[in-house]
Amino acid sequence: MHVIIIGAGTGGLALAQRLHGAGVRVSVYERDRTRSDGLFGYRVGISPDGSRALAACLPPQLFETFKKTVAITPEYTNFITEKMSELFSAGGPADAEILGPADPEFTERSVSRMTLRQILLTGLEDVVHFDKKFARYTQNPDGSVTAFFEDGSSATGDVLVGADGTSSRVRRQYLPHAKLVETDLFGVTGKLPLNDETRALLTPRMLRGVTMAFAPKGVNTIFHVMEFEWQRGETDPELVKAWPGLTFDNTRDYIMWGFGCHRRFLPPDFMQLSGPELHRLVLDRTRDWHPNLRKLFELADPTSCFPLNIRTSEPVEPWQSTNVTLIGDAIHTMTPGLGVGANTALRDAQILGDNLVRQKSSVDAIAAYEHEMHGYAWEAVIKSRARFDGNSMAYKPVIGRLGLAVMRTGMRVVNHVRPLKRRMLKAEVRNRDHARQEA
Ligand SMILES: Cc1cc2nc3c(=O)[nH]c(=O)nc-3n(C[C@H](O)[C@H](O)[C@H](O)COP(=O)(O)OP(=O)(O)OC[C@H]3O[C@@H](n4cnc5c(N)ncnc54)[C@H](O)[C@@H]3O)c2cc1C
Repeated sequence: MHVIIIGAGTGGLALAQRLHGAGVRVSVYERDRTRSDGLFGYRVGISPDGSRALAACLPPQLFETFKKTVAITPEYTNFITEKMSELFSAGGPADAEILGPADPEFTERSVSRMTLRQILLTGLEDVVHFDKKFARYTQNPDGSVTAFFEDGSSATGDVLVGADGTSSRVRRQYLPHAKLVETDLFGVTGKLPLNDETRALLTPRMLRGVTMAFAPKGVNTIFHVMEFEWQRGETDPELVKAWPGLTFDNTRDYIMWGFGCHRRFLPPDFMQLSGPELHRLVLDRTRDWHPNLRKLFELADPTSCFPLNIRTSEPVEPWQSTNVTLIGDAIHTMTPGLGVGANTALRDAQILGDNLVRQKSSVDAIAAYEHEMHGYAWEAVIKSRARFDGNSMAYKPVIGRLGLAVMRTGMRVVNHVRPLKRRMLKAEVRNRDHARQEA
């Protein structure tokens, strides 16, 4: 069997690792020109589910390398107002007790995107072909499938997997009825170094975790603190020397923020703004925020800012499986509401990879993957949208303000009433750690 994968992103590379490791012939075609191209600079949260999928797809030694390249595990999840007043905070030993013991092998992990990409590329040097922009495919009478690229070349195999992200060309050809919709929400992300000056701006819990700030008019911001062990000299120097991602400067501690806002409050050319223009815009929209949070925006490198248009897929009815399939954002783009887009892409890769390796018929393997994917992926798409949709009440002018007040009160209550907190934390585990939920 020869499997052709379009897209060397999170899902495509994890699948390639799984197949390559099992001795299945696999070729990946990526439009980026080199392994360090693309916007992979910032953080991605790998859930216990995501870690399990990575462990299943990567050779054991590479999974060990992955574990050594992640930032210190976030201990707290905090919700605050734009004035830095606490609404909710979970974490630490007391809350860990509520959930029972976590498996340290498959814990929450924060990794830089570029780092994860370098890990996933390791050992696939002969498998991944860069500077290959996929254009279209044909399913041939002999049961094979041919992918055509913009440079005029083509590749023929037995299976074609579209892992080409949100604007997937494979999806557009294969499932033209699959819809990608606007949420009317946009974002800006920025990055600043974690040093004595910026550390002093954070509360101890913010410093050890992930923090979301909820402000009026549906504006919200997420802050991630990325502290790496290896900056403190605790990483094996041989590993550091051998690992190519080091050259991409993701080993220095940093804070990453993501600012989210409704289209109504943004200029029409928002997606065309430069980094410095986006930086100024965030500063302008947060003028009345707490001085410490303002400072975190201010100290970000303006060139690190880039715009995001938050879109979502709409669930698609199951279709008749063939030798073409889709994984990750290519089939189920989701809003960052649950933070599981990459984790779901990894889960797809694990399931499809296992099926292709174990089953004799590739179409049966694909059908079994798609059957499972239709369950967990659409659930994640729907839940993610419920938390992040510009058409929801939270973004309406008057009701939105009322809704914010109710939400803030609700969070404060849940924070102090243990049974309610327990229920909320358990629901969160269900989204990120299926094994713990089922245990
Ligand atoms: C700001 C932000 C924060 C996020 N945080 C998290 C998080 O914490 N946790 C989480 O689970 N998810 C997170 N996500 C979502 C996550 O990034 C995506 O869901 C995940 O990257 C999807 O992986 P993928 O392999 O499907 O697609 P991608 O990683 O987007 O890869 C697609 C690849 O296909 C290539 N490609 C596209 N078109 C072509 C073509 N025509 N020919 C050849 N190659 C092509 C692209 O260059 C790319 O390399 C976040 C997203 C954003 C925007």
